[in-house]
Amino acid sequence: MKKQNYLGWLLLLFTIFIGSWQFIRNFYDQQVLMQHETYLQQKADLFIRLSASDQSLETIAKQYVIDSEERITSLDEKGNILFDTYDSTLSGTRSKRPEVNAVLKGSSLGRAVRMSPTLHKELLYVAIPIKEDGQLKAIIRIAEPTANFLPSAQRMKQAIFLVYSFFWLILSGIILQILRRRNRPVETILPVIKKMIKHPDNPEIIMQSSPQWKELYQSVNLLSEQMSHTYQAYSASEKRLYTLLNELMIGVFIIDEDGKLLLMNATMQEQLGNFAAPLQRSFTETITDTQLIQMIYQINDKHPFTHEEIQTTNERVLDITLRYFEEAKQILGVSYDLTRIRQLEKLQKDFVGNVSHELKTPVTSLIGFTETLLDGAKDNPETLTAFLKIMQKDAYRLENLIQEIIQLSKSADIDYHIQTINVDQVFQQILTDYTPVIEEKQLTITLEGDTNLFFTTKMELFTPICKNLIENAINYSLPQGEIKIHFAEKSGLVFYVQDFGIGIEKEEQVRIFERFYRVDKARARNSGGTGLGLAIVKDYVEILGGSIHVDSHLGVGSTFHVFLPMN
Ligand code: ADP
Repeated sequence: MKKQNYLGWLLLLFTIFIGSWQFIRNFYDQQVLMQHETYLQQKADLFIRLSASDQSLETIAKQYVIDSEERITSLDEKGNILFDTYDSTLSGTRSKRPEVNAVLKGSSLGRAVRMSPTLHKELLYVAIPIKEDGQLKAIIRIAEPTANFLPSAQRMKQAIFLVYSFFWLILSGIILQILRRRNRPVETILPVIKKMIKHPDNPEIIMQSSPQWKELYQSVNLLSEQMSHTYQAYSASEKRLYTLLNELMIGVFIIDEDGKLLLMNATMQEQLGNFAAPLQRSFTETITDTQLIQMIYQINDKHPFTHEEIQTTNERVLDITLRYFEEAKQILGVSYDLTRIRQLEKLQKDFVGNVSHELKTPVTSLIGFTETLLDGAKDNPETLTAFLKIMQKDAYRLENLIQEIIQLSKSADIDYHIQTINVDQVFQQILTDYTPVIEEKQLTITLEGDTNLFFTTKMELFTPICKNLIENAINYSLPQGEIKIHFAEKSGLVFYVQDFGIGIEKEEQVRIFERFYRVDKARARNSGGTGLGLAIVKDYVEILGGSIHVDSHLGVGSTFHVFLPMN
């Protein structure tokens, strides 16, 4: 129990003590006065009886007061003084004095305690009537100084007070002890319960051994232990759930009926491109995509399910499923990121479209020429030779195209043969293959690098990379131009192929690695280009774990930088 409560009890006990003592004191004072009243009354009665037999009342009274401090006054039926033992000259009326007035009004006894103006002392006055045939004849008043009996009564009162106080002290002690005992379990258990609420994972133990409250304390201990176990298990499973949710490749979020975001896993945040997802705040602070917001607003107990594929503002394709849970009044959202799948689908579609388009041109040409030959053109030897040359070119083009498509279909999963090559020799060999074109265009080729540099790589991938880059440099160089090939070892192999040809515009530079992408379609086709060369280069560089970038300016030339890590 709190100190204030004890103080309250103490105050109450003290008030009762003071109140009761006041009552006892008054009662005691009354008793003492009553005793003296009776005593004085009996004395007055005696005087009356004595005066009736022989001597006069005045004589008896005067004799009596000689060795007593009492004062006797005799008054007539109207309250006028007949005689007074203290002052025989005293006269006048005393009818207004309360004790006399009471008797005059018919009372058999009048009494009062007051200061006597004559004696200058506090006196107890008692007046009784003297009657004859029922008629008031005179009044006798006896007065005694209260100092005669009050001091001894005061001492008695002090003794009673001491005993009474002692009794109350013991009683208060017992009451407070009982209160303390009654409150002890509350005082012991309350702080433990408060700690349990604050730190539910820590079990709290009550160490006190009280036979009276043993069972209660044991039960609280058990409860605390069970609560800490339950809390720990709950925290662990919650942690597991959160880890699982954050590891999921699916986006998950929960919104309550007030539109507050209760949960959003990392994947969902990433899908929305929003990495701050304040929980317990309006979901619109995190979800800003209008399509998704509309879907969320549409869902309720009447339309508890919805499923849509949406395109977000950050170019993501999300497959969203929203479900309304009636009992919890919450919306659960699940989102699959279909961006990559949709991209691949588009790439595949574009690729098939491009392949068929690219194949169609030489095939149509071949069919056309064969038909013209069969229709009689074969009989003209000049036309025959010219047509056969065109047909051969188309056939080569077809072969080239098919070969590159096959090359593109090679994937990282294939177990390529690894071998150590002399880099200089590989470049020399490739250049030899292109000698006719180089001579035809009168190009100057410079090959720079350590002729003894060896590099371990997958030849099936390495050769097409170099070949395609060199072929492009030759194709897009101007006649009599220069081509520079430089290679060196730098945590792997670095090399670049530089030409001073037509160059590529900045906007085109990101697209040239796409399949079938050609900056100038007509020119590229004329040069035998398929638009697949750089796509193959990029694929193969990535399979080898390397990187490629282009540095080019329109009309100045292009440099393709390649880095391949050590195997
Ligand atoms: P292609 O078979 O048409 O050369 P690539 O994939 O090798 O196809 O190249 C794609 C496009 O990039 C080419 O059509 C050409 O426009 C541009 N390109 C590639 N290399 C160069 C270069 N060295 N100089 C200028 N343009 C180039």
